[in-house]
Amino acid sequence: MHCELTVTLTYTAHKLTDYSSGTLITAESEAKTAFDEDWKSIETGTPIEELRVRWLGRENGIVNKQLPDLWLKSASKKERPEVGKAINRLKAYVQDHFASGEDLEPGAREIVRAFQAVDISLPGIRRPIGAEHPVLRASRDMCAVFQRMGYSIAEGPVVETDYYNFEALNFPPNHPARDTQDTLFIAGQNSKPQRERLLLRTHTSPVQIRTMEKLPPPIRIVIPGVVHRNDPPDASHSPMFHQIEGLAVDTNITFGDLKGTLDHAMKEFFGSNVKTSFRPSFFPFTEPSAELFISCIICGGSGKRDSDPCRPCKQTGWIEILGCGMVDPNVFEFVKDNGYDPKKVSGFAFGMGADRIAMLKYGVDDLQLFFHGDVRFLEQWA
Ligand SMILES: [Zn+2]
Repeated sequence: MHCELTVTLTYTAHKLTDYSSGTLITAESEAKTAFDEDWKSIETGTPIEELRVRWLGRENGIVNKQLPDLWLKSASKKERPEVGKAINRLKAYVQDHFASGEDLEPGAREIVRAFQAVDISLPGIRRPIGAEHPVLRASRDMCAVFQRMGYSIAEGPVVETDYYNFEALNFPPNHPARDTQDTLFIAGQNSKPQRERLLLRTHTSPVQIRTMEKLPPPIRIVIPGVVHRNDPPDASHSPMFHQIEGLAVDTNITFGDLKGTLDHAMKEFFGSNVKTSFRPSFFPFTEPSAELFISCIICGGSGKRDSDPCRPCKQTGWIEILGCGMVDPNVFEFVKDNGYDPKKVSGFAFGMGADRIAMLKYGVDDLQLFFHGDVRFLEQWA
């Protein structure tokens, strides 16, 4: 004797005695009531798969097979549309219940959900494994070079105040970088004093000040992050790009430390046969300042690729990589109270474009390719 079921499912589909609308309505309503009773029996233990087979099964399910056979086949051409509609209404009614778990108490509804979750007849969901974005990969690789030299990673807000982005970095009040031509300011702040006005940081340098406010010397940090400038996008510019800055402050840090550190970093990142060259430059927050060039990694410094001119280095054999310099004593004045007495400590800082080093390292000649999100381009790094 079988006693798995606690409820007996009693409804059996019958042939229609006639095709009057009254008969059809009654038959449809009977089938619906029967389904309601069957459906409720999930609460008392009827296996849901058994109900599915009984009502929706392809072989002999009531709405998919039995009713079409018993009701529709012997209907006349004229009667067919109405019979078909009735069957379709019943089918939709049954399917809706299986899809929603409708009219059941919460416990039984869970059974329906679990049932939906394991429909093994559906194709699986394919989740392709993503890849690290080339700019982030280059940025991480460069930061790792400095981490191996004892540097820590520091980060800070992308929306900054004028104070951290300009004033504390020794930009004079009328410096052109403060102009809206170059900087993206947050709107509606004209009533605020200039130093409190918000903007999208134009460099990661504010994090240098923020870190020195928090940590006394000595410090060695690298700062990767997103920055914004009011530049229209082209092959080498973007209103949004990525920087990596570095700062080392201690007693007796010299320009020699700067040169040795950056020379080592370039060789680690681009390859040990890369040469470096420092040329005088100017930045508001460093004194003296320099630009670091590396020997062209494309042409090896010859300026030529076979007999063609080398474009990345403009045939000079050298590529500008970053700006750097000894931290201007005026910058230390802003954090003097936290141990940065310019008479006692010295330091160097540097900043480079993460997008630029990624372009050079991976041989990409258009910056915009990094930001278009075209999978055919990005999957090369997968
Ligand atoms: Zn070259």
